[in-house]
Amino acid sequence: MALVLGIESSCDETAAALVDGDRRIVAQRIASQDEEHAPYGGVVPEIAARAHADRLAPLIAAVLEEADVTLDQCDAIAATAGPGLIGGVMVGLVSAKALAMASGKPLLAINHLEGHALSPRLADPALEFPYLLLLVSGGHCQLLLVEGVGEYRRLATTIDDALGEAFDKTAKLLGLGYPGGPAVEKLAREGDPKAVPLPRPLVGSKEPHFSFAGLKSAVLRAVESGEHADADIAAGFQQAAVDCLLDRTRRALDRIDTPPALVVAGGVAANQTVRGALEGLAAEHDMRFVAPPLPLCTDNAAMIAWAGIERLPLGQFDPLDVAARPRWPLDPEAEAVRGAGVKA
Ligand code: AMP
Ligand code: MG
Repeated sequence: MALVLGIESSCDETAAALVDGDRRIVAQRIASQDEEHAPYGGVVPEIAARAHADRLAPLIAAVLEEADVTLDQCDAIAATAGPGLIGGVMVGLVSAKALAMASGKPLLAINHLEGHALSPRLADPALEFPYLLLLVSGGHCQLLLVEGVGEYRRLATTIDDALGEAFDKTAKLLGLGYPGGPAVEKLAREGDPKAVPLPRPLVGSKEPHFSFAGLKSAVLRAVESGEHADADIAAGFQQAAVDCLLDRTRRALDRIDTPPALVVAGGVAANQTVRGALEGLAAEHDMRFVAPPLPLCTDNAAMIAWAGIERLPLGQFDPLDVAARPRWPLDPEAEAVRGAGVKA
């Protein structure tokens, strides 16, 4: 049975995992850097790269030891090769290259977004292609039609900020600390989602793209006005975000043959209001709703190893001089979106 070592280091989680062809996460370790970045209210790339460099080798050793396997017993080494913060990506990819070279095992340079896109199949053996994936994380907000391994059609993306970023910014403005998503969700439970009038950017527009910059600015103005309770702002922001997700996902569904399943992944998929709303939308369209368990939604190495397992039978290995890529769209044919200078 296939066994792949996966490495993830594209943002602020250093992670290593061993996954087999039976969908077993044989061993995994994740070291979060929340404490290092908290004083700055966001991820500082240089600090992240150094933390990955300090932690990755011991994490890999711990995973191999826990599983009681050697590199010789692995079929391939898979590592995130982008998109992400380039210093961190290089730490993970160079480590994977060194291990591949030393062991003679093939290298798989994985697109981090492909890891997210395929991870629901690690958790759910019944999930077949195609499915509609809403990927909502700290760095991305995309709707992807996942038609097969290596076959991703991007239907929509954000023209400015990722939704996780907007959650983090809202948390910062409300003095809730970093990472902000869980804190905003908690405070929102005590607020009235209708009390603060906030915009729903791009809702009703023809293309199913997302935009959250205007919502972020509106939250800033609401905070500065001093007229609203913090909990009402949190609840209003969360509701506006959910309304955007629902409207945009509906729009995307209008454009394609309805696939059998709607899947959500990425850190924001941890949000119960988001999950509940999407579950309702899936039911409306007679689609199955799949939300992988939370540890698989946020950045992790098991999804990278799993993407490797999915790619193994296709023989899609990479040369040892493969480059790390700060930007790497999953669907190279997707058109550039107006205003989307930052996010692929
Ligand atoms: P990722 O980029 O996939 O590692 O996810 C991290 C992002 O998910 C951060 O921007 C978090 O603020 C966001 N996040 C995590 N938990 C929640 C939550 N419960 N509600 C909203 N956003 C969340
Ligand atoms: Mg993260």
